[in-house]
Formats: sequence, C-alpha cells, structure tokens
Amino acid sequence: MAEIIVIGAGISGLSIARQLIQSGHAVTILEARDRVGGRIHAITGNFSKPVETGAEFIHGEQPVTLALLKEARIDKNLMKGKFYSIAKDELQRGDVLDDHWKELFSKLNKLEHDVTLTHFLQRYFAGEQYKDLRHRVIQFAEGFDIPDPDRVSSLALREEWKNSDDEHQYHPEGGYSKLIEFLRKGVINNGGPIVLNAPVREVRLKAKIVEILADSDKIHRADKVIVTVPLGVLQRGSIKFSPPLPQHQAAFSAMGFGGVIKFNFEFKEPVWESRNHRHLPDLAFAFSDAEVPTWWSQVPDRTPMLTGWFSGPRTFKPDFTSEGLYQTALSSLQYVLRCNPNAIESSLRHWHVTNWVQDEYAHGAYSYPTLRSNEARKLLAQPVNDRLYFAGEAMYDGASGGTVEAALVSAQEVVQKIGSSLQ
Ligand SMILES: Cc1cc2nc3c(=O)[nH]c(=O)nc-3n(C[C@H](O)[C@H](O)[C@H](O)COP(=O)(O)OP(=O)(O)OC[C@H]3O[C@@H](n4cnc5c(N)ncnc54)[C@H](O)[C@@H]3O)c2cc1C
Repeated sequence: MAEIIVIGAGISGLSIARQLIQSGHAVTILEARDRVGGRIHAITGNFSKPVETGAEFIHGEQPVTLALLKEARIDKNLMKGKFYSIAKDELQRGDVLDDHWKELFSKLNKLEHDVTLTHFLQRYFAGEQYKDLRHRVIQFAEGFDIPDPDRVSSLALREEWKNSDDEHQYHPEGGYSKLIEFLRKGVINNGGPIVLNAPVREVRLKAKIVEILADSDKIHRADKVIVTVPLGVLQRGSIKFSPPLPQHQAAFSAMGFGGVIKFNFEFKEPVWESRNHRHLPDLAFAFSDAEVPTWWSQVPDRTPMLTGWFSGPRTFKPDFTSEGLYQTALSSLQYVLRCNPNAIESSLRHWHVTNWVQDEYAHGAYSYPTLRSNEARKLLAQPVNDRLYFAGEAMYDGASGGTVEAALVSAQEVVQKIGSSLQ
C-alpha cells in the first residue's frame, strides 16, 4: 500500500483519490479552497435554484463523464431550443454557412503544417473582402475554445470543430455539483481525508519520499504526489518544486490557458419571450457581436435565467470590476434583445459575475492547444523520479480538451500509471 497525496480537490483530484482508495492505497487530498469541486461550482445565494459558475454542459457523447454519471445515478437533460445569431443589429436567418465560411473550412481541411489561427487567417484570408470573416472566425474560436488567436493551433481547432456536436448539449440533472458530491463521498466515506484551506506552496522531491508544504506550515510526507491544480496556477509558479524543474516550467508556459468571465442573470419573467423588443422564442443560445457575445437559457428548464459568456484574451485585463462587468453585460443584453436600458434591469431579479481569470486558484478557465502543447504534454505525462505526477484537464491529449471529460480521462490515465509503477 502506498501513501499518496493528491493536490487539488477538483473533479480530477477527487476521481483519482477515489480510484486509488478503491485499490487499497492511503490517499490524502490537499485543497487550497474552503470547498471541493474547483472549476465546478454551483451557488444559490438569492437565485431561485443553484446556478453553475463554472462547468455546466456535457458536450455531446463524452464516454467517461457519461459512465460516471450513470454510476452516480444522475440523469442528463438534452438542451432543446432555438439557436439565434445577431450581427450588426440584425437577426440572422438560419445557420447556413456562407461562401467565405465554406472556403475557410476547405482551406483548414487542406492544411498540412500547423500554424496559429492568426497566421492561418493572414496566409489565406488577408484581403479586405475577408475582414468580416476574420473577425467572425476569431470570435467563434474565442467563444468555444477561448484561445489567444496568436497562439492557438489551427490543426487542433480543426479537430475540435470537426468533433463538436452542437445539437447534443446536456445538463447533468441537478448540475455537475451532484457528481462532485458523489466523488467526495466516495473519498471521505472510505477513509480518504480531504484537507481544505491548505494551499500547497512547495513540493520537495527527496530520495525516498516527497515532502509537501502547505500554508498551514505542516509538512505532509508521501510516497507519491499527484498535482492536479489548474495550468494557470502552474504557469504562475505558485507551487515551487525542489529541486527546480525548469523543463516542466517551460512546458507549462508552452501550453495555452484561456480566460472566461461568466454571468448568471435571473429575471422575473423570460425577457427574451417579450414582444416589446427583439422576440427570441424558445431561446437556447444567442450568439452575437455584442461585447458579451453569447447568452443561453436553461431550456427545457423554464426558470427565467440567462447565462452570459465573455471569453478569450480580453478577459485578462487586470482592472475589471464586478460592477463594470455587470454594466457591460447589461448593455450587451440590451443590444441582443434590442430594448431600452430599463427593460432588462427592471425585470432582473438577481445577478452574479464570476471572473475566473482573477481567481487565485485557477488564474483562468481552461486550457487550449498551442503549437507546442503536444510536445509539452509528452514531457508532463512522464512521472518525475516515479514520485511526482501531473494530472487534470490540461494534461489531457484528445479532442475534448478543456472539459470535465478531459479532467476525468487524465485522472484515469494517472491512476493506471501509478498502478503500473507499484506492480
Ligand atoms: C467558466 C467555465 C465553464 C466551463 N464549462 C464547461 C462545460 O460546460 N463543460 C465541461 O465539460 N467543462 C467546462 N469547463 C471546464 C471544466 O470545469 C474543467 O475542465 C474541469 O472542472 C477541471 O477539473 P480539474 O480537476 O482538472 O481542475 P480544477 O477543478 O481546477 O481542480 C483543481 C483544484 O486545485 C486546487 N488548487 C489550486 N491551487 C492549489 C494549491 N496551490 N494547493 C492546493 N490546491 C490547489 C483548486 O482550488 C481546485 O480545487 C468550464 C470551466 C470554466 C472555468
């Protein structure tokens, strides 16, 4: 039986701990926050039901996530409703690809050598006639994959866009937090302590053990340690490794970590159904060219809630305040619904802004693939001295990057590696 410490009680850390405990190991989780779940976090506050400030959807058929939901006996609800698109203050009809988009996908399909999205657009779509297309492509990429266009891999975007399944977006019944609770119980009910309020500052690799220094100044000792903190935390160097791991630090920097600011708005009635302004009946998603461009409802759940999504490099501006962001979201929604400023505020019951970029234990939302991500992940997939392992959403290599599925697959992989190392 090995003594193992997992750093981070997000879905990957909890899943790893649960599996290792089931295999008979002694596992302790050290978590910086006063709660588990990491980037899965529902709040209630003055909302009439819990709202997800982090992960919310199951994007299509995600096998590991769906299997875990089944084990936890949590149903999933297909999001049903209409997709709207608003550009230059006009509602666009249908989702037919125009000729420029078709040309874009054709060029992308023929691309052999990887380049950044900016480079790709400059090479094939430089002309004035493509100005609008360039803007829309970047907006599209930022909306889903949240990358910096100057760094993101065009080949990886191509893979992801090919595999995306917009028609099959599900909500776990009751939210992802139910899954977190299932995993948390699977850890603590089987003797795995979860130490909260324990931000880890240093990991010391010794000849025969690992020492982990958390804020409490207590030194935790283990045979192995698995670091599952977000890539943003690793990029910042918030955890010191001794001896230093310069190649690993370079690998963290080589990968991309994007930002998201999420808005949860609850209304007295579904303002988007009103005939006094732009009428968006049965709204599932509205995509627009507003500053906060993407908004979605909770259909088939009819609670009058809208969620706003603001993402990409713009979110890294250091001086955002909640009040300023709220005003930006309000004016974006006024534009989307083409209504007067009071129409939204007078029917708003409650709102909340979550800025993941300013979150000290995330420093962003999720990873995106750069030209050097594959090479970096290969290095990070190798255990250091058979004692130090990295896992979590950013360590996953596949077409479901930046998701709960990515975190769960990475958890399975590290558990297998540890199993093999102990045989
Ligand atoms: C706004 C937003 C929306 C998203 N939407 C979706 C979605 O709809 N569908 C989907 O599939 N995915 C979505 N994701 C991505 C998904 O949330 C993540 O991929 C997944 O939750 C990551 O899990 P993880 O365990 O790898 O990391 P985390 O959940 O971040 O867990 C890591 C843990 O490490 C802790 N930690 C950090 N620093 C330290 C330290 N020094 N010491 C100890 N502990 C530390 C953190 O507090 C955290 O609890 C979204 C993410 C965000 C931010």
